[in-house]
Amino acid sequence: MFILKKIVCRAVQLAFRAVLPVLPYREPRILSSVDALEKVLLARGEASALIVTSAGSAKRGMIAPIEEVLQKVGIRYAIYDKTRPNPTVANVEQALQMYHENGCDTLIAIGGGSALDCAKAIGARVAYPKRALNKLAGVLRVRRKIPTLVAIPTTAGTGSEVTPVAVITDGQARHKYAMMSFPLIAQYAVLDAALTCTMPPHLTATTGMDALTHAVEAYIGRSTNRKTRGLALEATALIFENIERAYADGYDLVARENMLLASYKAGIAFCISYVGYVHALAHALGGEYDTPHGLANAVLLPHVLEGYGKAAHKSYTVLALPQAFAAKGRATRVAPENLSKPCVR
Ligand SMILES: [Zn+2]
Repeated sequence: MFILKKIVCRAVQLAFRAVLPVLPYREPRILSSVDALEKVLLARGEASALIVTSAGSAKRGMIAPIEEVLQKVGIRYAIYDKTRPNPTVANVEQALQMYHENGCDTLIAIGGGSALDCAKAIGARVAYPKRALNKLAGVLRVRRKIPTLVAIPTTAGTGSEVTPVAVITDGQARHKYAMMSFPLIAQYAVLDAALTCTMPPHLTATTGMDALTHAVEAYIGRSTNRKTRGLALEATALIFENIERAYADGYDLVARENMLLASYKAGIAFCISYVGYVHALAHALGGEYDTPHGLANAVLLPHVLEGYGKAAHKSYTVLALPQAFAAKGRATRVAPENLSKPCVR
């Protein structure tokens, strides 16, 4: 039975690998600051936006710059700030109601992966008003266009701003499920490192380890290709060089920008080449015990890597020295003189 299951899984993996080049994967348009949103929103002529965030992000004043931009361009907005660390079906349904009550046509997600995933799921429900969320879970179940989605990550780890994936928890069944459909990719990603400066050290560590896990699992998996291996190595190199700096001094903007860049690159790598057992276990722990995703990955990563045994040693050698193996000239780093703006303490 086990062998049969293994054959089926490998066949599915091979089939996905074969169709990968023709899948409609696209990257969001990158904006380097919240201020850059002004021009984009004006050009699009949107009327009303729902800001999706968490209570923590709202408390830390993260939403203020977005509100300022929306007021400037005359777009009405409502704020949903109850997203939980592992966003639930109830979060999505509450926010969806708010979206409709306020006649919204745009979603602006600001926060960690939870707010971004919640907004993607809201978008899916807007596109499929009569379908329950669990019926939209799985691979390629969302095929209709979702409303304009602007993703603004304030943690550097999940890479949710660049992936077609949203992970939602069914609080009643204590089960997590993933939605993986290309229309869920944000249209715009705002990579503004200044927004990540107030992220506390423990969050910096756990979300950064989530990004590292994406890069490692994308690199060692069976669905890797040249492009994703390159991106995974670049992300690994950036994380090795910057995670401790960002942890020690949250206002080190160079380290913060590099961590955002690493998270983005690891995000592209894993959404094309997938993640592995570390994420499988971390999602199970998140569903059952509400364990924060990055923390679960950080704890599980060394144990799972050891469990893979000798077959993976060659890959580990490369990953341990990413600077030596990353393609020359591609491991873009942010130099202090290229910073878009200073980080105010
Ligand atoms: Zn992850």
